[in-house]
Amino acid sequence: MSAPASSQVSPPAIAARHVTSGGTRVYTLSVPAFPHFAANVFLVVRGQSSAPTYTALVDTGGSHEASTAALEAGLDAIRSEYGEAWSWETLSRVVVTHPHPDHVAGLPFVRGKTAAPVAAHEWAAQTIENPHGDPAARQAEMEDHIRWLGLTGGGSLENGTGAEYAERLRRRARNTMLPETVEVRTPLREGNVLDDIFTVIHTPGHEGSQICLRVDDLLLSADHLLPRNSPPLMPQRFQRGAGLRSYLASLDHIEQLEGVSVALGGHDGPMPDWRGRIQQLRDRYDDKLRAVLDAAAGPTTIHDLTHALHPRLRPIQAILLLDQTAALAEYLAARGELQATRREDGAALFVRA
Ligand SMILES: [Zn+2]
Repeated sequence: MSAPASSQVSPPAIAARHVTSGGTRVYTLSVPAFPHFAANVFLVVRGQSSAPTYTALVDTGGSHEASTAALEAGLDAIRSEYGEAWSWETLSRVVVTHPHPDHVAGLPFVRGKTAAPVAAHEWAAQTIENPHGDPAARQAEMEDHIRWLGLTGGGSLENGTGAEYAERLRRRARNTMLPETVEVRTPLREGNVLDDIFTVIHTPGHEGSQICLRVDDLLLSADHLLPRNSPPLMPQRFQRGAGLRSYLASLDHIEQLEGVSVALGGHDGPMPDWRGRIQQLRDRYDDKLRAVLDAAAGPTTIHDLTHALHPRLRPIQAILLLDQTAALAEYLAARGELQATRREDGAALFVRA
């Protein structure tokens, strides 16, 4: 999932085609995963076009009809425009890069079309197989998080937004990532080679269980590396593997890949200069970290820090930015650049060390 604010709807796409150094065709379909937000789905094809020996769908888009209809139309176009004789019946594999709704929520629809086994990182399997989880535990965790963010006490600002944001967060905790349970037949780990084609690279940060997939000289970089947005981050305290420390380590991790000529992310277009993009993202986060340090002259909650950093914050962006600020503050505290204390009501307070 990426910040909706700066994104636009892409038209239901005619697929873009990449051919890897090994001759594998990778088709990118842009589907309206959310009403105003497009995500990429990939069809990976090996063998002769008239009789492919292997076909895989990477990610699924959203669950609502505009998304699934665009997915079907795009897949049809790959058959009619490019002559790829793929079909749902012969699909070899479905891979999920990470269990965010713009990538995984279409999975039950896809499961209705194909019996192809699903692969995802082993940490994602639980979310996909048991999307409803334990609702009471999730709500309790969210209430703790709401207090920690400083949304319950009277903030130093008179904007009265804490209650509204808390309500949005509670709503988010009630929403599940996908509407129905789907079996993950093949749990993946760092370094696995799936079906002799995808090298699995575990890239926690944006989401703890996120994977990138390498096919020959092409990298499917999921939401780890995107051409236009810095991926939204959650604090590690709220999700295993989330947070800025993991994110930056995962940037280092993929930067070491040799022989990758293009990266295709979970949103927007291809990144031929993917190493340059890694450096831009590091610079972006350095700027954001400096801004947090500047704003934390006195003990400040995440809620107040977020407003100090984003004075014209719109409610729709707020919960993503609260998470992002929390991830930045948590990272700075772990490095000793911020000191973290607790207010009586449980809110975390951060101040420059
Ligand atoms: Zn996404």
